[in-house]
Amino acid sequence: MSPNYISNEMSACLKRYWGYTQFRPWQEDTILSILDEKETLTILPTGGGKSLCFQLPALLKEGMAVVISPLISLMKDQVDGLKDMGIQAECLNSSQTVGHQRAVIELIRRNQVKLLYISPERLQTEDTLELLSSVALSFFVIDEAHCISHWGHDFRDEYRQLGAIKDNYPGINIHAFTATATKEVQEDILVQLRFAHPRINIASVDRPNLAYRVMPRQSIILQLTEVLEKHHKEAGIIYCLRRKDVDDISKKLNKSGYKNLPYHAGLTDEERHENQERFIREEVNIIVATVAFGMGIDRSDIRFVIHAAMPKSIEHYHQETGRAGRDGLPSYCYMFYGGGDFRVWEFFSKQSANRQVMMDKLKIMYNFCAQPQCRHKVFVNYFGQEYKQSTCQACDYCLGEVDMVNDPLELGQKILNCVAAVRYNDDQGFGAAYLANVLKGNLTDQITRWGHQNNPNFAAMSGQTLNAIRYLIEQLIGQGFLERQGEYDTLAMTRLGQQLLNGEVTPILAKPLVAEKKKAIAARQKAKKAGDFAGVDEELFELLRQKRAELARKQGVPNYIIFGDKSLKDMATNKPTTREAFAQVFGVGEHKLKTYADQFISVIKKHTN
Ligand code: ADP
Repeated sequence: MSPNYISNEMSACLKRYWGYTQFRPWQEDTILSILDEKETLTILPTGGGKSLCFQLPALLKEGMAVVISPLISLMKDQVDGLKDMGIQAECLNSSQTVGHQRAVIELIRRNQVKLLYISPERLQTEDTLELLSSVALSFFVIDEAHCISHWGHDFRDEYRQLGAIKDNYPGINIHAFTATATKEVQEDILVQLRFAHPRINIASVDRPNLAYRVMPRQSIILQLTEVLEKHHKEAGIIYCLRRKDVDDISKKLNKSGYKNLPYHAGLTDEERHENQERFIREEVNIIVATVAFGMGIDRSDIRFVIHAAMPKSIEHYHQETGRAGRDGLPSYCYMFYGGGDFRVWEFFSKQSANRQVMMDKLKIMYNFCAQPQCRHKVFVNYFGQEYKQSTCQACDYCLGEVDMVNDPLELGQKILNCVAAVRYNDDQGFGAAYLANVLKGNLTDQITRWGHQNNPNFAAMSGQTLNAIRYLIEQLIGQGFLERQGEYDTLAMTRLGQQLLNGEVTPILAKPLVAEKKKAIAARQKAKKAGDFAGVDEELFELLRQKRAELARKQGVPNYIIFGDKSLKDMATNKPTTREAFAQVFGVGEHKLKTYADQFISVIKKHTN
């Protein structure tokens, strides 16, 4: 077949089933490799569109593709989504009734399944081996392939056995997909799956539709409600560090009228399941959770992710924020961090066999928070890639929301001088709060007791607010000039700090936001958010959402399976009133046109007449 013919086939299939007109980066390459019988390892960030990379060639090839997926809860949603596009997909897992399983096996035997989702445990049973050996297979897919690696953060024992596919199904290709891009994980996948000459497709880890903002935590409930006000009626996740923070924040927000549900490992299985389901089915838009929440969440219209505390690594932060904006629409990530978060993670790391690795990651994470810099660039560089743009225009730093101090070297030296001067021996010093009071010139009881009102550094920064001094100290810690030590978190200078004192290095220091600047930023963000809806008839959008929810409820599927927000926005902008026009809507393939056109057109007609 000529390359042109294949390319046309692929595009036709994309429009016919998915209603999309363009491939995302790396999708075409991956699909072509699969069609070309080349084994592949494909690394696309969350929301990059991995599923389509194997679903589309599964339709074009003879036989049935077998997709190994770690989460039973996700399988059903994925299969429902495919069926809603008119694709013959099924899953086999232990949550189905025996009768249902039999029916699926029958369909497989009759060659009426193009994509079969199955868990790794199920794949390994004798019955499955017998079943899959008796039908024509196109290829195997290992989804979430990082689960195979000890280096990944979701290692699963059952994934270790997947190398046996090569013995059990000789000649059938394997294709692996993950969003985790570290080198160790990649190499482990290649070894475990016994890939001989794979094609490796690695996309940029950057998520240009996500805007990142990182701020020191002050009054968390107030800070959260300020953000929630900007995201009225939108879906989002608030991540907390501990279960008790989840309970506390969830309660307070509910009391203030921000309807939300909690999620953490301390709830019963039923409660957790129920809360997750209610979020997926859009009965509630806000989930307050620990990191236990997220793996099984495919909801593509999550518009914001807030971290009420700092996560323990850049990988975690990237993964957790990555749950926002999978549909490609602009989405927003906020983090409120404090020095205490570092201490909590440090404490946890003491119980880990991997302590040094965890601490290194934690320091990089803290530096990410405490050093004003382009957030997109940090991510991209962290994963070993180059960031070519000079500004992202989608983070607090590049949007000019962070005000830098004019004299960072001088301020840094003032603080370090004070640390050195009040420290009375190698093991004993003072904490950040005490030092801030000395620099501010506050005559506290403690200061009087130590006689530091007579120290030359007393009131050396009297012109700054106490908050500002604390913030500057925190940044110096995050940037490695100071470190907290011992039981009492006393501050000590590092070697890098000594270099700062000698004037050999300069810190990068931001001022805390003053009320006026905050207001200006809020106004700009509001305007930008209004821009996200430019040309969209918002009233109609709301009516279409209601129609979607009604249909989803009837069919017992999550709303996004019917249509994503992007499709509804397209309808609320172009207002198609004929089937021909409706066929042009983003995400409308042949099957969805047949199933839904009339119902949505009727909403549009009613609204426009
Ligand atoms: P991942 O598994 O990489 O996180 P998904 O496969 O869930 O991402 O895809 C994320 C979203 O992007 C889905 O809603 C999917 O339908 C959509 N998508 C995928 N490919 C395209 C494309 N070529 N054009 C438009 N939307 C796409």
